[in-house]
Amino acid sequence: MAEANPGITPQPMGLRSHYIGSLPEIPTGESVALCGWIAHVREHGEHLVFVDLRDHTGMVQCVVAHRSQLSVEAAARVTGVVDRRPPGTENPNLPTGSIEIRVSTLEILGPAAPLPLPLEDDRDVDEYTRLRWRYLDLRRPRMQRNLRARAAVNAALRRAMETQGFVEVETPLLWTPTPEGAREFLVPSRTQPGAFYSLPQSPQIAKQLLMIAGVDRYYQIARCLRDEDLRADRQFEFTQLDLEASFVTQHDVRRVVSHAIQAAVRAVRGHEAPPIGEITWREAMARWGSDKPDRRFGMELIDLSETMRDSGVRALSAPYVAALVVNEPLSRSRLDELTKRARSLGVQGLAWFRVDSTDPLAVSSPLLRVVPGELVASLVATCGARAGQTILAVADTFVRATSTLGQLRLELGRHQARPEELDIFWVTDFPLFEGLDEDGNPIPAHHPFTMPHEDDLDLLEHEPLRVRSQSYDLVMNGWELGSGSMRVHRQDLQARIFRILGLTPQIAAERFGFLLDAFRYGAPPHGGFAFGIDRLVAILLGEEAIRETIAFPKTSSGQDPLTGAPKPVDPSVLAPLGVRVAVLRGSTS
Ligand code: ASP
Repeated sequence: MAEANPGITPQPMGLRSHYIGSLPEIPTGESVALCGWIAHVREHGEHLVFVDLRDHTGMVQCVVAHRSQLSVEAAARVTGVVDRRPPGTENPNLPTGSIEIRVSTLEILGPAAPLPLPLEDDRDVDEYTRLRWRYLDLRRPRMQRNLRARAAVNAALRRAMETQGFVEVETPLLWTPTPEGAREFLVPSRTQPGAFYSLPQSPQIAKQLLMIAGVDRYYQIARCLRDEDLRADRQFEFTQLDLEASFVTQHDVRRVVSHAIQAAVRAVRGHEAPPIGEITWREAMARWGSDKPDRRFGMELIDLSETMRDSGVRALSAPYVAALVVNEPLSRSRLDELTKRARSLGVQGLAWFRVDSTDPLAVSSPLLRVVPGELVASLVATCGARAGQTILAVADTFVRATSTLGQLRLELGRHQARPEELDIFWVTDFPLFEGLDEDGNPIPAHHPFTMPHEDDLDLLEHEPLRVRSQSYDLVMNGWELGSGSMRVHRQDLQARIFRILGLTPQIAAERFGFLLDAFRYGAPPHGGFAFGIDRLVAILLGEEAIRETIAFPKTSSGQDPLTGAPKPVDPSVLAPLGVRVAVLRGSTS
């Protein structure tokens, strides 16, 4: 796991003369006053107690020459002198392992009750217990490291944006709906009963208005709130570095973001980020079957469409045929499982060809009955499959064939990715729409303010799914870290896109009239980006879950076990808000 850059040890003040992390640098014999928490107590007979005192910079052994009632995790102040440990008793695993403190006074400033959970970093404690006692959980060195690394990232991002001429502007939390595709949290207005604010899914509309307002280069470390199901590693609230600039191209925006990301990598890892490359959405899908590919391992997909064209083989004739070579002779039962998995991902089936482990010319497959021998040979050759390997193939539309195999690639190969490696790159030229909703209206791949590719404007009404957008994602180790685009800044085009999305002019005016109106007053061309800071910090620290980088996250069922939120509210509190609870707790409808 990456070691966080420890940063600067602060100047001591108040009750302490030193932070523990600075003790190895001071001469023996010097008097010190240390403050922190008692991590361990070891009694050695009547008159000798070893106490490990911990602050966020380290831990040191303190030798107390009398018996005292000490409980772990009590807040304490120790005075004494720094001494060398007797030879043979040093602890090479601790930066302070060659010294100890000969204690003159040990004051308990905050006594501690028996602990409800162990605080050692290597002990497994369930999520609920950790969050119920989060203030104790956060005392653990790993969590202290994470919080401080996050602060270092925020500071580095701010510096990177300021030096690039961006101005921090705070946008409202009490806001109006922003269409980013998620459900919004609502806040009832007491002064206007029956009316609601929305908590922003992102500052998207506000930052576009700031461009019209002449801010030119805006940024914000912005809290975003989305009322989404919390499966996977999501939180209702998350933090983005949000930015927008006027009179720029997408290359300018990407350069600014790349610079900020490199500053964040330096702040946590202490080394330069690898160069940030660029691929198109089509290439990402064709080679890795994903718009956020994890490229830290091979297993690239192969395009078999040409090989299979005109083959007449039903199972392998479709607009696109993608293949994946697995470096082992998969068993029949494993292949059956993978076929089921492929079907659950929305394709008709999975074809497979297993190359014999000793004879590369001997291939087994249920399709041998219908696929002629030369075609099998040319398929194996196109895939470059060797003895003992298995070819998996899916025939379907481009997106379905590649994304199904892309998912199988991840499930079969992800374990090969080296966690400490960083792979950061841009994905460009996304389609404007990702599909059609139940009413046949296109669904924006990003949000409805994204500028279509100029060459595709004529396709908007008749072939919307072929329209490319001027948008770009930033991908890091297989995660979509963030997305952005050049925006529509013309009223007529924005109104046209709302219409294509199925919004009547009346509804568009009701919801976004203020934005369409703003476009009438000299809106500059503009574009921007936002990326998730929680995820960025988690990746840089080698943490699996973003909640390890958030001080007070919710559980995966959206609760805060520490405070009990969300809680029922007394009807007498709701009445002035014009709100009455009609659905009883526990009801699912
Ligand atoms: N508002 C977008 C988001 O939150 C980012 C952007 O387009 O700038 O994903």
